[in-house]
Amino acid sequence: TSFQSLGLSDNILRAVTECGYTTPTPIQQQAIPTVMAGHDLLAAAQTGTGKTAGFTLPLLHKLSQTKTDGKPVIKALILTPTRELAAQVEDNLNTYAKYTGLKSLVIFGGVGINPQINALRRGVDILVATPGRLLDHSRQGTVDLSKIDVLILDEADRMLDMGFIHDIKKVMKLIPEKRQTLLFSATFSSEIKALAQQFMQQPKLVEV
Ligand code: AMP
Repeated sequence: TSFQSLGLSDNILRAVTECGYTTPTPIQQQAIPTVMAGHDLLAAAQTGTGKTAGFTLPLLHKLSQTKTDGKPVIKALILTPTRELAAQVEDNLNTYAKYTGLKSLVIFGGVGINPQINALRRGVDILVATPGRLLDHSRQGTVDLSKIDVLILDEADRMLDMGFIHDIKKVMKLIPEKRQTLLFSATFSSEIKALAQQFMQQPKLVEV
């Protein structure tokens, strides 16, 4: 399997080639077509498997198909447990989105909120966030989550371990029910299965 045969658009393939990737990893081979087909995805994958490209590449493909001119609105939300992971995911997105014209932004706590408010005001297509700071913005009315088409929970098991379940449930109430949901976790614990049961629609399972 090659990245080309997965049907990713040329503007994304160009960025992937520049990264020096030649072959999709097993998680990418399974996740990319599933996400592109519009299914919910429940994936068990550890860090280091290439999981980030496994969800960012098909996400960028999907969003670049429907991208319109003018100020972007948030179409995708990626929730992560930590600032470090949020920053890493956004860094990957930036690299892969280089030729798509899609804009991403990362927001997390522990830093000033005003630069984030200004960046949100300018408009972004993809928001990467930690749950607490996202809810701060929501309470202040500085983020609009009503147009979200794709929700991604990255390292969901760690989010639960860190006590983010209530924050996740609050976020779920702020975003459209009709959406595509992707959940990545190192393990499928009973808590993860319960989360999937509550918030996902007939997810396809992928384990690597
Ligand atoms: P991740 O599991 O998403 O943290 O990715 C682990 C590392 O693998 C990152 O440094 C990526 O840049 C790299 N990577 C992702 N996909 C590929 C690929 N298909 N070929 C080679 N390296 C990759």
